[in-house]
Amino acid sequence: MTSPRGILKKYGIRPYKGLGQSFLIDNNITGKIVNVMDIKDDDTVVEIGAGLGVMTAMIAKQARKVIALEIDPGLLDVLHEELKDVSNVEILKRDVLKYDFPIPLEDVASQKLKVIGNIPYNISSQILFRLIEFRDHVSSMVLMFQKEVAERIMASPGTKEYGLLSVITSMYTIPSKVVMVPAGCFYPRPKIDSTVLKMVVREKPRFEVMNADFFFKLVKTALSKRRKTLLNNLRSSNLLQSSKTDIDKILTRLEIDGQRRGETLTVEEFGKLSNAILSKMLLF
Ligand code: SAH
Repeated sequence: MTSPRGILKKYGIRPYKGLGQSFLIDNNITGKIVNVMDIKDDDTVVEIGAGLGVMTAMIAKQARKVIALEIDPGLLDVLHEELKDVSNVEILKRDVLKYDFPIPLEDVASQKLKVIGNIPYNISSQILFRLIEFRDHVSSMVLMFQKEVAERIMASPGTKEYGLLSVITSMYTIPSKVVMVPAGCFYPRPKIDSTVLKMVVREKPRFEVMNADFFFKLVKTALSKRRKTLLNNLRSSNLLQSSKTDIDKILTRLEIDGQRRGETLTVEEFGKLSNAILSKMLLF
């Protein structure tokens, strides 16, 4: 297999930091990431930020089809050239944050996508939220994160790391740690270590909410000022409109102490709270 360094040299390409370009040079790690996806020969896999196509080629050996997304025109030329003999890869010039993850084709109607990516750190949370938005079409995702972001995703209530990322991820997926990737496994070498997480999309969310958008906004509001109490965060937001005065009553009825910090609430408590506030608002 050609190494990322070799490919870069061959095309005279310099990695562009602005796009988070840091290529995996440790084939053991790349192999581990691909293996944990458990790709079946009828699977469709979307790879985000295919880069030089090293991982893409590995996936293509196992999957029915790979959709390789890449934003950098220079790397697109590399991908077309390096993967020209691989017939089951579709290379697309796309910004993943604008990409509509495809509704599976009719001939594989029941099939959902598997998503994989050594993704740019500066947009990794946005990518995760976007994938969660498309959760009806995705069965699992395996993504590379900055170590600290992975810790936030995996965090439990009441810890320093627990926040919006943890709540939303745990609401819709079951996340697990795959492997820690030291900075030395990349070229160019980043300043930070990374962790690969696998997130299996839940068949049903952890808690059935009336409105997923409202749930997201409520969690964000409850966590907006970490030093404020839950009650104060909720009171000072525009989200609750006319039911603002009733928020104490709602909390009492749900047996959630308003003096707690938002970051101590479980997913279920946020879910209950979201439904209760929304029902109240709908009465007005
Ligand atoms: N998967 C490769 C490359 C990882 S670097 C490897 O492991 O070696 C991250 C890649 O994401 C780069 O190729 C970069 O050009 C690409 N990228 C950055 N922003 C992107 C975006 N918004 N949409 C799609 N790809 C993006």
